This record gives sequence, structure tokens and C-alpha cells, in this order.
Amino acid sequence: MFEKVLIANRGEIALRVIWACRDMGIKTVAVYSEADKFALHRRFADEDICIGPAPSAQSYLNVPAIISAAEITGAEAIHPGYGFLSENSHFIEVAESCNLCFIGPSSNSIRMMGDKAQARKTMIAAGVPVLPGSDGPISSQEEAVAVAKKIGMPVIIKASAGGGGRGMRIVRTEDELENAIATAQSEAEIAFGNGEVYIEKYLTSPRHIEIQILGDQNGNLIHLGERECSIQRRHQKIIEESPSPVLTAKLRKEMGLAAIKAAQATNYYNAGTVEFLVDDDGSFYFMEMNTRIQVEHGVTELVTGIDLVKWQIRIAAGEALTLKQKDIKLTGHALECRINAEDPRSFRPSPGLIEHFHAPGGPGVRIDSAVYAGYRVPPTYDSMIAKVMTHGADRKEAIARMKRALDLMILEGISTSIPLHLKILDDDQFQRGEFSTRFMEDFLKRVSW
Ligand code: ADP
Repeated sequence: MFEKVLIANRGEIALRVIWACRDMGIKTVAVYSEADKFALHRRFADEDICIGPAPSAQSYLNVPAIISAAEITGAEAIHPGYGFLSENSHFIEVAESCNLCFIGPSSNSIRMMGDKAQARKTMIAAGVPVLPGSDGPISSQEEAVAVAKKIGMPVIIKASAGGGGRGMRIVRTEDELENAIATAQSEAEIAFGNGEVYIEKYLTSPRHIEIQILGDQNGNLIHLGERECSIQRRHQKIIEESPSPVLTAKLRKEMGLAAIKAAQATNYYNAGTVEFLVDDDGSFYFMEMNTRIQVEHGVTELVTGIDLVKWQIRIAAGEALTLKQKDIKLTGHALECRINAEDPRSFRPSPGLIEHFHAPGGPGVRIDSAVYAGYRVPPTYDSMIAKVMTHGADRKEAIARMKRALDLMILEGISTSIPLHLKILDDDQFQRGEFSTRFMEDFLKRVSW
């Protein structure tokens, strides 16, 4: 096992990795930007090293600075968290060439899944269902029109290099198509440095259901059930839960097997998530694979009792997966609300000083957060400041516990999305579990403040 791990991230996920390392008796190294001088990950790690100024490009994305920090401190492995360098195959290659172990999949798996148009092709070859669409990137307007005619409107244009809910454009009529392709290509070029786009059938009210997988370097792969992530705004998840209110045991098994097949097709190891869209009739389609730990991994940990981050570290150190598929049971129900530093009505970011903070406790509550009273949320990074998770015997109890937790959470000085979460939790449709990815759009029209 490693003696020292460097965490190439910040915020709650950096703390999450520190917790796992502490449980395992591993020393930790935090890296931080000048904006994160007072951040908790710096305080809780055994060592810390400043890697540059506030902008991510000069700090958390600064490969030479991070590699140097690992060398200076004698860390043997790097945990990338999510975002930043977590899905950057070049970073992994550089780290490995410096004899540093990357806690995640191989650079090759990441490359294969990172190009979404290519991943679609790989999935088709592996027999994993995908939505009708183009065979790889679109090379001409004529091809785009031909594909759209064949699969029918509406369609969605996606950037091959897209991610984080960006680089997508829904097209409802053929007249819009030409313009939309050109705009999508130039937007993708600017945002990702890669103008490639592809076309997929657009489902108007699907559910987003994803499968957590875990595999070791000997080819053992299991799945840990699903997470329902349909409560999203602008393709960004707001609330996640496990199990999904609609998945039958049969569908869970089918989707789990498909996710394992998807992982096998790229010789995948470590933790990963295969995202699917699920239609009303239970048909499911591969959307993409996230080749890292995800923000919402905690809900799976709550229902399975398995520590995913510890397993990530063990697998990276070469240990075999001792968990067997038959041992994986989902117990009770877990929910997660992503708390953002933003106005709950306008969604405008609200960085600034947290004057008062109290984390709720009690049965079935888990909070992953890196904020405290007196902490100033910097404007530079992601606005998510806490993940509140609850676990209950069933969905009803998990919801009741979430309402109790959010009601008793004190986070003052800045605006947060807590009031919005409380409204959603009170919503009839949400409570009945009857929703699709369109939920938020309709909800925001009917919600009263
Ligand atoms: P990202 O990597 O940016 O998160 P995804 O491919 O995972 O992009 O898609 C994000 C969200 O966009 C999905 O959860 C879903 O709500 C919506 N979406 C993506 N593709 C489709 C589609 N073909 N039909 C309907 N909705 C889609």
C-alpha cells in the first residue's frame, strides 16, 4: 500500500480523499492555489504545497507544478478527485513517466471514453445500446441533414469533447439544423479546442440513470447499482438518489450488465460511472462514461455500505477486488442535495464570507463539505459548497431526513440553493418519484416563493 498520496484537487472532494487516506493510515499531501490559503484541505492534510495563483489553469490544472509537488514531498500516488485533471490522459502519462501512480483508470481507457463520438462507436461494437445517431463525428452539412432525416426530429448535437453539461444543442426542426451545426462546431472549438460534433436522437422526457462500477487491474468488474440523476437544471445535476424510484430488479440487472460490458470494452479498472438515458418503456441507451469518482458517489456508498474512495486507492495499489457481485445489496434509500453558493431563484453565483455555519447531524445524515464559519467562498471555482446526503429505510424516510437536515442547517452570509431544495422536496411529483430530466424546467414554472 502507498505511504503517501497527493490530492490534486480542492474543496469537499479533497477532504473526502483525506478521510479515506486517514482511515487507511496513508499520509496525505494537499496542493492549493493562492485563493485557497484558508481552505480546509490544506489544514487537514499532513503536508501542503502552494501550486500557483487562483486561476485553475495556473494551479489545479498546472501539470508541472503538481508533478513537482509530488516529487518534492515524496508522494507515491496522485488522487485527482473529479473535474480538473481527473480525465486528462496526458496528465496520467506524465505522472506515470515520473513513477507516480494515478489513482484511477488507465490513460487509454480515459482516452477511449473521453471522445464521446468515439465512445459511441466502441459501445456499438460492444453491443451496448446507444441512441440512433451519426456514426462518429459529423463531417459535412449534408451528412448532418441525412442523419437527422433518418432518425427524425428532435435531435441533439453534442461536442465529442464535451462535458459538465456543456457543448450540447437541441434541434427541433430541420430548418434550424444547418445553423445549429455550424454554431455547435465553433462553440466546441472555443470551449474544448476541438470542434468535432456528433448527432443523437433527442429524447424529450427520459430519465438519467447511471450505474456505478468498480473493477481491479486483473479484469474483475462489478456494478454497485444505480443512481437516479434526473433532477437537473441545464444538464447539471441537483439531486441524486439511489435506488431509482422506477428501476425494477430486472432492469437493474440488465443495465448493470450493460455497464460492465461498456467497461470491459475499454479494459476499464478503478471506479467509473456509465450514464444511461432511460425511456418510458424501460429502453435504456448509453450516453457516456465518466472515468473518475463522481460528485454523487456518496449515495451509492450509503446504500451499499462500500467505501468507493478506499477501493479506488486499493485498486490503484494493485490489490484485487474482493467484493463479488452477489455481495452487493442496496439497503434502504439515499438522497443527495448539492448545495451551491447561489441565489435560489436567479441562480446567480453568491461567493463571499460564510458568517455562520452549523452542520446538521442526527440519524441518517452525511455531509461532505469543506466550508466553515469565517470561510470566504472564492468566486474562482465551482459554486458547490456542500453535499447533504441522507439515508433512510425507504424513500419516504430519506426525504423526511433530508428536509429535517436542510431545515436545521445554518449557512449564513451568502445565498445558497437550500431554499430551492426544500421546495423540490415538498413537491408532489418529486415525492411520488414521477419525473424525468424535464422536471426542473416544469417545476420552475409552477413553484411559488
Ligand atoms: P455531460 O458530459 O456534459 O454531462 P451528458 O452526455 O452526460 O453530458 O448529458 C448530460 C445531460 O443532457 C443528460 O443527463 C440529459 O439530461 C441530457 N441529454 C444528453 N443527451 C440527451 C439525449 N440524447 N436526449 C435527451 N437528453 C439528453
